[in-house]
Amino acid sequence: MARRLILFDIDGTLVDTMGAGLVSLQNGFYTAFPECEGREFPPLDLGGATDSGVAGFLFDHFAIEHSPEARERFFHSYADDLASRFLKSDEIRGRALPGVLPLLDALSKDDRYEIALLTGNTMRGAFIKLERYEMDHHFQTGGFGDDHADRNRLGPIALARAAEVHRETFVAENTLVVGDTLKDIYCARAFGAKVLAVSTGTVSAEVLEAAAPDAFLSNLAESEEALTRIEALF
Ligand SMILES: [Mg+2]
Repeated sequence: MARRLILFDIDGTLVDTMGAGLVSLQNGFYTAFPECEGREFPPLDLGGATDSGVAGFLFDHFAIEHSPEARERFFHSYADDLASRFLKSDEIRGRALPGVLPLLDALSKDDRYEIALLTGNTMRGAFIKLERYEMDHHFQTGGFGDDHADRNRLGPIALARAAEVHRETFVAENTLVVGDTLKDIYCARAFGAKVLAVSTGTVSAEVLEAAAPDAFLSNLAESEEALTRIEALF
């Protein structure tokens, strides 16, 4: 039987960057496109969004031609800003969400599970955030926001990457997505995975539960209970 794969969302699920990610998106954008400086930055709906989706939205808003080069320039400036503020300064921003570190430790030590990411962050942005909150060593791969603008397409990419990295097959029926938005629930459904929703982001328990995830927890603070709930899903 295929081993179990747990795919974690990052923002609102593993960490709370207290808005630092948004500041870096803004700074990175104006650094990449200085001609837009002085024009107002539009409000972004970041919950469950992908960075490629955000790039497309900003390019439309500022009438920048969509191209792989423009996208790369934006992602590069964004990650540089994130790295300088997260990793090279003493400024403490945000936190690992309660229970996450012991839960990741427990899953990493358990041979029945492999863990990876399913996030709207670019791969580089994801690992900068994880390094900042000392959980990067738990992760090797996943599906990322620079793989596709549509989060619903990221599940199969994460499965394929995990198979490549660990040299074994993972199947959707034995895969669990853990996330804090409706988009995490939908993207799990899109490839036939199970989903555990947590209300540690900006979406209320009521809204998440109404979407009928396979399991719901208000947070991961009781990591042993979380582990029990995860085991019961397989
Ligand atoms: Mg999230």
